[in-house]
Amino acid sequence: MQINIDKNAGFCFGVEEAISIAENKLNNAGSLICLGDIVHNDEEVSRLKQKGIEFVNNNLFKKIKNKTVLFRAHGEHPETYKIAKQNNIKIIDATCPIVLNLQKKIKKAYENGREGEQIVIYGKSGHAEAIGLSGQINDNAIIIQGISELNKIDFAKPITIFSQTTMSNRKYLQIVDKISEKAKYEIRFNKTVCGQVSYRDNDLEKFAKENDIIIFVSGTKSSNGKMLYEICKKHNPNTYFISSVNQVDKQWFNNVNTCGISGATSTPISQIEAVKKQIENYFY
Ligand code: SF4
Repeated sequence: MQINIDKNAGFCFGVEEAISIAENKLNNAGSLICLGDIVHNDEEVSRLKQKGIEFVNNNLFKKIKNKTVLFRAHGEHPETYKIAKQNNIKIIDATCPIVLNLQKKIKKAYENGREGEQIVIYGKSGHAEAIGLSGQINDNAIIIQGISELNKIDFAKPITIFSQTTMSNRKYLQIVDKISEKAKYEIRFNKTVCGQVSYRDNDLEKFAKENDIIIFVSGTKSSNGKMLYEICKKHNPNTYFISSVNQVDKQWFNNVNTCGISGATSTPISQIEAVKKQIENYFY
């Protein structure tokens, strides 16, 4: 059996940079506090915990004083920066520059909006990035997770639309089309799915079709992992989602000649390679 690793698999540069900042700090200081999981991948989170990172949630963060805290690539709500200032927290800000830029765009669109402008964000409600984006406009964004939530929008008022960076570009364009059909005013559309995610749609479809089986490796909390897995599953029903190398089942490979392995933008290439090794152990 031939095993192929998706050439686009591995961390996106935003996550890679955040982890590299964290590891450098750990090497110098021996410990570090990070607000939220640095990446939606449990194995990577436990690896970093073992190296000395302490992950705290927002409630615990509010109680920290006079320490250094890392902000991950997803970006933060302005309130988080205020708390940091009040509590004399030194911030190491690893917010991805693409997310930072999107935050600024949303703020500007809100400030320069037409009378009654609604800022709509196609994103995952409760996701750190979406919370940070809406936070730029005092939490006034309308977050929609799909076409089924279009009823949150008032189509008689102007609409500006953005997407969270890790959403499906195809679904985003479908949503924009639907909104355009219903909107009274011309909608202001912003192409904001990150290139590190959007360009993968077509390549992944091809990759899924080229292989007899696809093993998709991702943390269960990763939104782009779920979305990219669905693309694989749609184009190759023989696709399996795993979060750990131990979940690979030998029986999946009966009558299989080619196996493709891919993963989310939050899946390190080391995990993909470990899965490859495991499969090789079964058959060679
Ligand atoms: S997916 Fe794109 S925007 Fe999001 S962290 Fe990665 S590089 Fe940055």
